[in-house]
Amino acid sequence: MDTQATVSQVIRLVEAGSELVRITAANIREAENLANIKDTLRQKGIKVPLIADIHFKPEAAEIAAQIVEKVRINPGNYVSSHHKNKKYTEQEYQDELLLTAEKLFPLLEICKKHETALRIGINHGSLSDRILFRYGNTPEGMVAAAMEFTDICYNSGFDKLVISLKASYVPTMITANKLLIKQFQEAGYHYPIHLGVTEAGNGMAARIKSAAGIGSLLAEGIGDTIRVSLTEPPEKEIPFAKKLVSLYGRSHQVFTEKEISFFSNGNIKNETIPLVISDKKNKNSDGTASDFKLEKTSNQFHDDKQVIKLSYNDIPHEELMIRASADFTLKATDNTIAGIWLNNGTSSTPEQLSELSLQILQATGLRYSKTEFVACPSCGRTLFDIESVLEKVKARLGEKKGLKIAVMGCVVNGPGEMAGADYGLIGAGNGKVTLYKGHKPVLKNQSLEDAVDTLVSLVENNGFSSRETENIS
Ligand code: SF4
Repeated sequence: MDTQATVSQVIRLVEAGSELVRITAANIREAENLANIKDTLRQKGIKVPLIADIHFKPEAAEIAAQIVEKVRINPGNYVSSHHKNKKYTEQEYQDELLLTAEKLFPLLEICKKHETALRIGINHGSLSDRILFRYGNTPEGMVAAAMEFTDICYNSGFDKLVISLKASYVPTMITANKLLIKQFQEAGYHYPIHLGVTEAGNGMAARIKSAAGIGSLLAEGIGDTIRVSLTEPPEKEIPFAKKLVSLYGRSHQVFTEKEISFFSNGNIKNETIPLVISDKKNKNSDGTASDFKLEKTSNQFHDDKQVIKLSYNDIPHEELMIRASADFTLKATDNTIAGIWLNNGTSSTPEQLSELSLQILQATGLRYSKTEFVACPSCGRTLFDIESVLEKVKARLGEKKGLKIAVMGCVVNGPGEMAGADYGLIGAGNGKVTLYKGHKPVLKNQSLEDAVDTLVSLVENNGFSSRETENIS
């Protein structure tokens, strides 16, 4: 509702290089106010396409679709009714799907009339009760939800459609997107795909998760738009997103089947093969030739496990962070991978390489060496300073190997998207937060001043079951 502040934020994003800006519209008033935001921006000559983020209110989506260029809806929330733990008969399942379609039709008509695009944005952790009953909280469930809504749009003759499947756990996000591609191919669909690792948190860990999830999919030619989601000022997301696209965007697609299958061979020792074949990609950012090599070596400690060795030719450490995360994730698709071995000449210190290696293993769920954080990027529903609270929680609880903590902006979506965290600190409105143990709210409406201390005591008194690795659900 704060038009001027929103306009200023959009301008900062555009100046940083953002090509699309999404704004939360949680209710009808906020959806209507998108017109003021858009008018003010256009008067200032800012033409960036705007996207309305709608969660629960179909009416808000229908208003927004008459104003902005794209509307994002979450099928998990865009349902006719909520039936937690209900056991659906086939008839009930189909009836509810029909009701969902009926609820969507008016929006599709408005979108057609105004040439508004629609994003079906599915998040792991906020699937509908109906989907959860049949598929559980799984990549298969995410894809089923996407396919149902895509079918409805297709059958209604609506094709300005974008799909996204996001998760905070990188392997889940990758698995879901690859499965979607497979089902799209079977159905003959060719809709654009938006990529993102959601609730990635902040700092280096969040960037590595994004590079691992988004970069590895882009490298395989999957993805049309991206969002790097950080619990930081929004404009901080853009430089990293731009770099990721410049390294792995569609025009740079470089990997071939032949090269990938070479490495599935097992114990190839100290043999190297350039993975990069296109002229474009075969250059470092400064235009010099790259000698990036990938080796898969035997792990001397576990004969059946493999270490992936990635060697780069003295690239800047920040670029190494992106490329090693994406390249490793692209290759580490089977569970025989036990480690990573990075080489970057003299451009990265041993300490930097060690830290990066551990962070990549953690981002891909292969090995946990410190606390794992799930934190949302915040939006119009966040009513406290989530960035500083996340920093405080990290400072107090950041080094506990195997612990997983969620810091989320609101109780509307926060609890569902905690991604299996042991504890959660979640915005409860009016500057208060609620503390969760697992999915259970244990201390409600805590004042912000004491919340971090209380969370630390909660963890110290109740402990956590240390996770070494995490498997794809
Ligand atoms: S969890 Fe965070 S990003 Fe998601 S709706 Fe709530 S405040 Fe917004």
